[in-house]
Amino acid sequence: MRLRGGCHCGAVVFEVEGELSEVEECNCSICTRKGYLHWIVPPQNFRLIAGGQALSTYQFNTGTAKHLFCSRCGVASYYIPRSDPDKIDVNARCLDGIDLDRLKVKRFDGRNWEQSITQRRSGAK
Ligand SMILES: [Zn+2]
Repeated sequence: MRLRGGCHCGAVVFEVEGELSEVEECNCSICTRKGYLHWIVPPQNFRLIAGGQALSTYQFNTGTAKHLFCSRCGVASYYIPRSDPDKIDVNARCLDGIDLDRLKVKRFDGRNWEQSITQRRSGAK
């Protein structure tokens, strides 16, 4: 399926290609505050249509993740995640026409990031 998403004011608009059935919720300091529902996709499945110049970047800690947000409305509709810096992490809350209640939500223990990422990469559930 092809989905459209973006920020609140309409400056940032993107399209994502893929099957969205499961998202990840993370308990780390920034995801808790932002309420992100993570959907990580390969960059070739993501197309920024508008708003590149409206985006600001927030970085902290290792500086790997690039937390993008719209400088006008503040909404973080997608970003470059620390776990997969070669991919795009779309905030499923910012997709049009999605019934969030129908998505399967997986938990990611971002407060114990190193341990959790090792587990995920080894394929453990
Ligand atoms: Zn905006």
